Amino acid sequence: MRESSRVTWDLLRWWPAQAVVMASAFPVGLQLAALAGVACLAANGLGTGQSLGSQELMVLRKTNLTTLAVWGLWWPAMILTALVLGRVWCTVCPMELVNRVGDAMARRVGWPRARLGAFLRAGWAIILGYLALQLLVAGFSLHRVPHYTAIFLLVLLGAAFVTGLALRESRSFCRAFCPAGALLAVYGRYTPVQLEIRDRSVCERCLTRDCVSPRSRYRFDGRSCPSQLRPFDRKASDGCVLCFQCAKVCPHQNVGAGLVSPLAPIRRKGLLQPFEAAFVMIALGFVSHELVGEVAWFDRMFHAVPLALSKLMPAVGFDWSEGLWFLVLFPALVWSVIAAASNVAGHRAGAGSLLLAAATGAAPVVAVAHLAKAAAKVASWGGFLPLALRDPHGVATLQRLSSHATNSPASLVDFSMVGWVMLAILVATAWKARHWVRHVPGEHAVAARAGLAGTAVLFSAILAVWNWPVP
Ligand code: SF4
Ligand code: SF4
Repeated sequence: MRESSRVTWDLLRWWPAQAVVMASAFPVGLQLAALAGVACLAANGLGTGQSLGSQELMVLRKTNLTTLAVWGLWWPAMILTALVLGRVWCTVCPMELVNRVGDAMARRVGWPRARLGAFLRAGWAIILGYLALQLLVAGFSLHRVPHYTAIFLLVLLGAAFVTGLALRESRSFCRAFCPAGALLAVYGRYTPVQLEIRDRSVCERCLTRDCVSPRSRYRFDGRSCPSQLRPFDRKASDGCVLCFQCAKVCPHQNVGAGLVSPLAPIRRKGLLQPFEAAFVMIALGFVSHELVGEVAWFDRMFHAVPLALSKLMPAVGFDWSEGLWFLVLFPALVWSVIAAASNVAGHRAGAGSLLLAAATGAAPVVAVAHLAKAAAKVASWGGFLPLALRDPHGVATLQRLSSHATNSPASLVDFSMVGWVMLAILVATAWKARHWVRHVPGEHAVAARAGLAGTAVLFSAILAVWNWPVP
């Protein structure tokens, strides 16, 4: 018996979208354009900014096209699109293309290659990469020095290529190394916009199962799932990178993309995987640090601890003490409070299960708090884009701004407006997330609720301070 389609508003039934997605140049044409963009940004950043002081770098990061585009526009856009449209960035990501080229070359040569081990398959290298990135941001101002940002882009491209050459699994970089992998997996699970099969019974009767068949795995286009997923059995944050190959290869046109019914399995938000929970736990500290940085007195208060640490350990210095504080000590403090509240409320399973459940409950709130920072950044940096397009290196613009020959561009949106809107979205998300917590198994529900409530209180309080800054 036919069931009604799981995809209730299906983009792939609209002929212009269908024509684009089914074209053999999709998505590789977009990936090539993105690769050219990344290469131009890297070339533009190389050799700029290493010798400047911290005050000048605070301006140069916005006037240089590389740092502006990577940290002020692309990173915030990735957070927004993940929350609204899922992993749509992955559709055009040039790293996947470069990884595929490495993989194809290695298969042609036929040299022996390693397999992803259990540690890599479980996503722990992604967490180490994300941590390393945050430490480089704290310790070396990676996000402020265009030269370092350019090297970061080149290292990503190189790593994507080398992992393709060295590892047997396709999409080895996306599956085990991409530093944005955990962020995209966690933030992309809350949107109702997903890729999903239309009719389960069609897949049950399908004899060829082309979407998982090894016969077509290495075709140029219209191949079985290169991520080795089962498109007819999708689950939240299963690693789908929205390449649409399963939609192209399905002989029954049974794969859709768009608004998915709340009853579809992809909409069930069970427990996060351990590496995703670790990401949420670290991101809580990083996002708090970023949000308090928008209000000067709050920022001074938050940084009293790393300041004291740097006085106690002068050899370590303030920047690394700051990294230790917001990536390790502050999250440890908050998660300890949440764990204690879970125990008082009746959580009886072990510490690992408690943290997994608490992070699962907290994840949507952390995601929206991260979006608040992204929105504030675009609002305050976006006005620099015309200047950066006129002077991509940004050094001449920096000099004109420093000598007051040019005025600093105004914010695109009033900061207080961003604060109010994001506070409203955060409260609405926390309210909605009460239902998502019901998807976690019963013994984890208490800790999931504690994670949700604890982070909702923390980030609502921070955003409230945005709106009532005390001078
Ligand atoms: S998605 Fe298409 S190819 Fe895959 S099992 Fe279903 S009907 Fe068959
Ligand atoms: S499930 Fe489909 S869209 Fe997702 S990675 Fe596999 S082939 Fe690509």
